[in-house]
Order: sequence, then C-alpha cells, then structure tokens
Amino acid sequence: MNNDRINSPIYRSRRRVSGISWRLFGMLTLFVVLSLIVIWTFQVALLNRFYESSKLDEFHQTDEEIFSATENIELLQRITYKRSIGTDSCIRVFKITDGVPSEIADCDANINCFIHHADGGEIRRLCTSVLEKDGNYTRRISNSVGGSTVIVTIHAAASKGADGSDYVILQESALLPLSATVTTLEHQFGWIMCILIMGALVMALLLSRLICLPMERMSRSARRLAKGEYDAHFFGGGYREAEELAEALNYAASELAKTDNLQKELVANISHDLRTPLTMIKGYGEVMRDIPGESTPENMQVIIDETERLTELVNDMLDLSKIRAGTRKPEPEIFDLTEVIGAVMLRYEKFTEQQEYSITFEKAENVSVNADRTMILQVVYNLVNNALNYTGEDKKVQIKQTVEGGRVRVSVTDTGVGIAPEDIPYIWDRYYKVDKVHKRAVVGTGLGLSIVKGILESHGARYGVESVIDKGSTFWFELDAIYDGNFEEEI
Ligand code: ADP
Repeated sequence: MNNDRINSPIYRSRRRVSGISWRLFGMLTLFVVLSLIVIWTFQVALLNRFYESSKLDEFHQTDEEIFSATENIELLQRITYKRSIGTDSCIRVFKITDGVPSEIADCDANINCFIHHADGGEIRRLCTSVLEKDGNYTRRISNSVGGSTVIVTIHAAASKGADGSDYVILQESALLPLSATVTTLEHQFGWIMCILIMGALVMALLLSRLICLPMERMSRSARRLAKGEYDAHFFGGGYREAEELAEALNYAASELAKTDNLQKELVANISHDLRTPLTMIKGYGEVMRDIPGESTPENMQVIIDETERLTELVNDMLDLSKIRAGTRKPEPEIFDLTEVIGAVMLRYEKFTEQQEYSITFEKAENVSVNADRTMILQVVYNLVNNALNYTGEDKKVQIKQTVEGGRVRVSVTDTGVGIAPEDIPYIWDRYYKVDKVHKRAVVGTGLGLSIVKGILESHGARYGVESVIDKGSTFWFELDAIYDGNFEEEI
C-alpha cells in the first residue's frame, strides 16, 4: 500500500477506531440483553413469588370478610361463594364446637381440590393445627387428587366469632397454570432474544447511515479544501450538530479563500514594489553607461534613492515576519515620546516644504513612556506616512498628543478619502488594500498598518481608527504615560 496513504491521518484514525455502526450495534445489543434480563427476572424467576404473595393477600382479605359475617350464616355463605368465584379458589368454613369442626359454608372452584377431598380426620387435623398456632398459616403441597399432580397453596385461618365459638377457614388455590406459563415464557425468551438482536443490528445500520452520511460528505469536502479547492461546500444534512459543524467549516473555508487571495495579492504587490525601484536602477544605470555625459550626480542620486527604497522595503518585510513570528520582541526603555514625534516630523520637513504639505503637532506637555523606542518611532512614522499618502486636497495632517487617566494618546488625522466601515476591520491585515490599485507610498513600503498592529499588540497598547468617508481618518494609539512623579516606580 502507498506509504503516503498509510501515514495519512485519515487512514491512521480509521485503523484505530471502530465504525459508528459497530458501536451502535454493540450498545443496542447491550440494551436488548439488559432489558431481557430485567424482564426475565420479573416475568420468569420471580413470577411465582409475586403470584403467591398476591394470592396470600387475597386469602387474608377473604378471611377478614368471612370472619366479619359469623353472626349471619346466610351472609357468610354468600361471601364465601363470591370470594371463591372471584379469586378462583376453593373455600370451606368450619365452626368448631367442642373441638369438632362442622362445615357451615363452602364453595368449590376446582372439583379436584385437596380440601374438599380430605377426609374428616385430615380436616380435624388441619383445624386443630391452625387453632394451636392461634392465627393462620399457608403452605404449598402437591395435590394428586384426580390423577394428575398439581402444586397448590393451602391457607388456614382461625378466629373467634361473636358467639364465642372458634371458626376456621380453609382456602386452596392451584399454582399449576402459572408454572406452565413460566415454562412457555422460558421457551419464548430464546426467540425473543434472537429477534431483538437482529432488530438491533438493522437499527444500528440504519442509524449509522443517517448519522454518517453527512459526515462522509463533509470529509469529502474537507479533502477538496485541503487540496486548495476553496469553493468546497459543507452540508449538515438537517441535523443541528452537523449543521453547526458544517457552518464552522464553511466559515473556515471562506476565511482560507480570503487568506489565499491576500497571499496572491501580496505576491503581486511585493513584486510590484520590488520591480519599480529595480527598473529605475537598471534604466538609470544603462543610460549612464551608454550615453556620454549622463553620469551626472542627479542620476546617481536617483539610483541611490531607489536602492534606499529597496533596502527599506526588504527591511520592512523582514520586520513584519519577525514581529509575527515573535522573534522581534520589544526592548522597553523610558524615553520622551513627544521628542520621537518631533523627530518624525523633522524627517518629513523637506518633503512637506517641497510638496506644500502641512503637518501640525498639538501637545500640552512632553510625556515619557516605557516602550521600545525604535518600534514606537516606526509606528508614528507609518501613521504619518499613510496620512500624507491619503490626505485630501488641502494636504493637511494633524498630530495630537493628549494625556488622560495616566495614558498618553497619539492621534494622526488626515482630511482624505476616509475608510468605509466594512473595510475598517481588515486594514490591519497584512497586504489588505481598500482600493486594489496599488498606491505607491511617499516614503515606506505598504506593509505599514500590519507592522503598526504587530508592534502595538506586542506592547499591549490600545489602538484604533475613526474614519468618515470623504472627510478623513484618525488613527490613534495609547501607551501608559510616565511622569517625573511616578518615574521611579515604573522603572
Ligand atoms: P498601504 O498604505 O501601503 O496600502 P498600509 O498597511 O499602511 O498599506 O494600509 C493598509 C490600507 O489601509 C491602505 O491600502 C488603505 O486602503 C488604508 N489606509 C491606511 N491609512 C489610511 C488613511 N490615512 N486614509 C485612508 N485609508 C487608509
């Protein structure tokens, strides 16, 4: 087998885990077996006991009803008849006079019952025995009357009537039909078990198909996605959990597609940025080589300027990748932020004079911060550079430094095209451009805001932008201010 396939995560996970259908089958079979055990315990193993206990309750109820009617023999006989038919048992009621039992009521639900075929001696013995035990007793016996042997329960109870005489009730009920039922149920259980296990298998297959189908479809789409086909769509198949998963995967796919587009744009932008200065250098170099008298200091300066731009571009790319990889960490020091902003303005002095741009800087006092000086300078520089690039016809850029609640806020405002609200979340992304036509920076490289974001986040600083279309934008960031008073503490 192909090695790549064997090492693929999908193949490895297939080898390790068993399929859903087998798991479902196992669980359903376990459920069936446990249910059958419970049913068997109650319906077969404990059936006789439950039946006997309910019979005993019936015997006790009959005792009570008959003993309460000893004053009225007619009523007593009616009760005896009713209870015998109602409970399917044979009943005999005796009045004991001078130790001799004489029958006062009886009803025969089963013609082969033991108590009706017992001779006088046996009846006397049963009566004496219950009188001696002073209450009642129940016992199981084999009754062979009528040829066949059946298991019966015999219950005897004694009580004193209102006339002071002893009364004895004998009751008998057969357990045979129940034993037959138990045997039949035992036979049926084997069949029931087989049918239910087959049913569990079919159910497991059906359920696993229902559950697995959307998953299989999703894993096919995921494989397409892994190959770079970003139009792969995920369907949940109508189940909430699967729909949620499909939604998350569709979102991931759309984000991957966006990143892929951005990467492509990056390559286009970088190659554009690299090619422009290179073309200039080559062009000027060739002119200076081929045309006599063109080796002027001005032409030489163009080559030097373009080389500088190239160096800056490469440095910025390197910076960005270092910040993102976390290898360039801030080295904090306490420095005067106001001075750093002034230094940036100084750097643009010549440019603003020539191009008639105006940069103003508004501040109340000098403020120090504890941060990486070079990095913060880069942030201010990028924001000012962007403001100059995008500001409006009046060519105005305003820098403001304010202090509030122990934090210093630096904001850079221009009067330019502004940024649409839907673009704002993306401008901090690497390579994102609102207008896809690549605008060349006055100074800088075009990776500006992603470098700004990386630096400010590595400082734990707050930052943001407020912008109104056709009115302009204000980019800002905040750092903890350090005054002379808390200087020592902060160090
Ligand atoms: P670049 O300016 O070279 O394109 P940046 O990362 O500095 O790269 O900015 C990203 C995008 O944010 C820009 O392409 C532009 O669309 C938008 N942007 C940045 N600064 C401003 C600004 N001051 N006014 C309007 N849009 C801006």
